[in-house]
Amino acid sequence: MPKIGVPRALLYYKYFPLWKTFFEGLGAEVVVSPPTNKRILNLGTETAESEACLPVKVFYGHALALKGEVDALFVPRVVSVEGKAYTCPKFLGLPDMIKALDDDLPPVLGTTFNLRQGWRRFFASIYELGSHLTRNPLKILRAFYNGARELKIFDQKLREGSLVPEALGETDFKNLANPTLTIGVVGHPYNIFDSYVSMNLVKRLHRRGAKVLTPEMVPPEAIEESISSLPKSLFWTYEKDVVGAIFYWLENNMVNGIIYMISFACGPDSLIQVLVEQEARKISPVPLMPLVIDEHSGEAGLVTRLEAFLDMIDRKRARVH
Ligand code: SF4
Repeated sequence: MPKIGVPRALLYYKYFPLWKTFFEGLGAEVVVSPPTNKRILNLGTETAESEACLPVKVFYGHALALKGEVDALFVPRVVSVEGKAYTCPKFLGLPDMIKALDDDLPPVLGTTFNLRQGWRRFFASIYELGSHLTRNPLKILRAFYNGARELKIFDQKLREGSLVPEALGETDFKNLANPTLTIGVVGHPYNIFDSYVSMNLVKRLHRRGAKVLTPEMVPPEAIEESISSLPKSLFWTYEKDVVGAIFYWLENNMVNGIIYMISFACGPDSLIQVLVEQEARKISPVPLMPLVIDEHSGEAGLVTRLEAFLDMIDRKRARVH
């Protein structure tokens, strides 16, 4: 049985249920790299170019952690996941960057997913990917169909309020049942839900009695509706989700504060920061806090800022009551 390695980074946090079911349906064993730790982060930062964003460095570390463990590494080129918007440009070059990383890495298995080219081309990509494991097109189609069904179940759990790790089956990651406040946390799921990278942000909020809302919990129609008032349409899928979720929470008075986690050296994140600060203020005075992270971010700094932010929200609420 061939072993396919999946780095626990980047789009793992969005599509893993689909990928796992797809490859297992074609008779492969799926091996995921371990949760991020110091060794994995160091592997990534030592090999990546210094101007790369932290999530890409983390991805490099996870790919290297699978060296010698698997027969192939799954690294797709994800260009677009919807008709009218693109993913981050870094996702386009990822397979090439990984191929050039280390001669001893297993071969990269992947294909290009670009929904801007339509469904016909998309299914051709699925067939191309599956044909590395079988020549039977029906088997490939069935594996994809089953994977898509698992992804739908995963997305449904998120809409119903599960956090991403919880929906992925990590049982120690439940949201709070009886919170004293609600905090919206926006950013890339690969930052927020990588406990090592985010320095346990979500669990720290839970310990302070805060329920956490994330953009994955907001229905796509509500996102589209919320951003429809913007003078220009947003070009990147990720930007749309983050901005739409913030507007939706503010318009519906659903959160006591919002934290947006930003990767240093991320183009889309820097645009979002400007947009959020300009537009969200027009809707509501709910406190917002940016948290910029890179590989040098320290836990003490995060704890201090978080405590100050939550204390400020508590004082604000006490004044109102
Ligand atoms: S969206 Fe930003 S953080 Fe994510 S891969 Fe692209 S540059 Fe890096």
